[in-house]
Amino acid sequence: MEKKIDRERLMANLFKARFPFLYVATWEEDRVLSLIHSIASNQELIKTERKVLTWKLTTGFEGEGTGRADTKSAIKALEMIENYQSPAIFVLQDFHIFFGGEGRQPDHQVIRKLRDISSKLKHSSNPKNVVFLSPVLILPHDLEKDITIFDFNLPTFNEIKEILDEMIAVNKQSGRIEISLNEEEKEKLVNAALGLTLSEAENAFARAMVEDGKLSIKDVEVVLGEKEQIIKKTEILEFINNRLNMKDVGGLENLKRWLRKRNKSWLESAQKYGLPAPKGVLITGVPGCGKSLISKAISEMWQLPLLRLDIGKIFSGLVGSSEENMRKAIQTAEAIAPSILWIDEIEKGFNGVNSSGDGGTTSRIFGHFLTWMQEKEKPVFVIATANNISSLPTELLRKGRFDEIFFVDLPTHRERIEIFRVHLEKRLKDPEIYGNFQINQDNLNTLAGLTEGFVGAEIEQVVINGLFEAFYEERSVTMNDFEKICKQIIPLSVTQAEQIKSIRDWANVRAVAATPFEDRSEYSESVETADSDISTSRGGRTIDF
Ligand code: ADP
Repeated sequence: MEKKIDRERLMANLFKARFPFLYVATWEEDRVLSLIHSIASNQELIKTERKVLTWKLTTGFEGEGTGRADTKSAIKALEMIENYQSPAIFVLQDFHIFFGGEGRQPDHQVIRKLRDISSKLKHSSNPKNVVFLSPVLILPHDLEKDITIFDFNLPTFNEIKEILDEMIAVNKQSGRIEISLNEEEKEKLVNAALGLTLSEAENAFARAMVEDGKLSIKDVEVVLGEKEQIIKKTEILEFINNRLNMKDVGGLENLKRWLRKRNKSWLESAQKYGLPAPKGVLITGVPGCGKSLISKAISEMWQLPLLRLDIGKIFSGLVGSSEENMRKAIQTAEAIAPSILWIDEIEKGFNGVNSSGDGGTTSRIFGHFLTWMQEKEKPVFVIATANNISSLPTELLRKGRFDEIFFVDLPTHRERIEIFRVHLEKRLKDPEIYGNFQINQDNLNTLAGLTEGFVGAEIEQVVINGLFEAFYEERSVTMNDFEKICKQIIPLSVTQAEQIKSIRDWANVRAVAATPFEDRSEYSESVETADSDISTSRGGRTIDF
């Protein structure tokens, strides 16, 4: 877990090494300012103590040592920094508005001036650093090389616990709120707030307290609910809170086994074996065969929180800057680690990384993501799912990024039996509805036989449409209802035979089959269409886990 002290040291080292411009993107201005103040006055950390001068659009520079000059204009402020004659850290709080983005034009004079003073700061006889402190990250292209982004991570467990302890102490004194929490329960409450900023955590605890005048273990739900809302507001991440488990996924036993073996690999006991925390998997394959389904079910299997990242939104320009969106998503996943970060349809974000005409933003974000995948220390397991893999950049597929690439093909006969079982058992609960129909091996075998080439989603459709037949005629369902629908549906694998062939060809070279050998060996089916034969061989190499 990241410690405050590491963060202090890292920032102090950047100051000492004369990095001229740091950029901290966060809403937590107070936390950053208090960190900077504590570094600036800690001789042991920073060697030469420095004054901290803060600048705001409304007031210019404020405080001791700023003289009487009016520094409300950005250029004037920069001139003051240039001419300042003693060691200092200048915190510029609203400067992102000069950098463009969000419909604004960049201020070229300010940018030019910054470039001019960059090298002067590096070589000035008095150590001077500038910190841009803003709620959003906007990096003007011209300053990319001069500015260092400092990731100010969300608060750690201990920082949140400190706040909670303080709140408890204050309320105990006033006697207004009844506190019934032991140490272990308190930890659970703190854990529930991980992923929030300090003030958000404080608000969530306050809400939990005032709702019923008590603070108890029951408030974990309140805090989690609050967190879900806050994360949803970012519009990029979504907390997936579902009750799906591996029993809801028919087939894909090979992938399930791989995942089962890695369960608990987050625990310290895994470290005794010298095991690294798994990085993640890329799951590709035919649409509608359960990639999203299994991603959601991992959360229950591993008992870890699951965050879904909407990669399309990262680049949409609708919410914040793309770069900042990616950083924030990673920060949130890390703050609640161990956690699972699911990147759905990853190809939508990183398709054509090298060719998009966006001034390099996509490739910078992609680079940042790759480095994080390779070097991440926090246990965040990444599940990336992709339908259209052929245009994914090859860098993503290289060893060291994902632990494994799995291919999910059309379900085999045996898998179709399992998928029918899942959906029939899920829906047929009332004896009045299922009447004489039985979910037995014979019936499942017949249905699987009739649905060669169907994907899981189409099998689900057979079950639903079959039930509609019975519902319409207000009677119990029969085998005949399902058989009729099987014959009506023309599966995607027939209409899109060519596409399926090409993703299988791709997978044969690069991916491992999610279906194990024992399920594949009986598969000698081929889906015949008028002009093509798409599946004499299935996609993905056979490596059974
Ligand atoms: P993908 O992500 O591969 O495009 P989904 O996981 O979204 O496909 O599948 C859509 C729906 O089809 C699922 O919600 C589920 O109801 C059904 N389905 C697909 N594959 C399976 C499967 N292997 N087992 C059970 N249901 C499945």
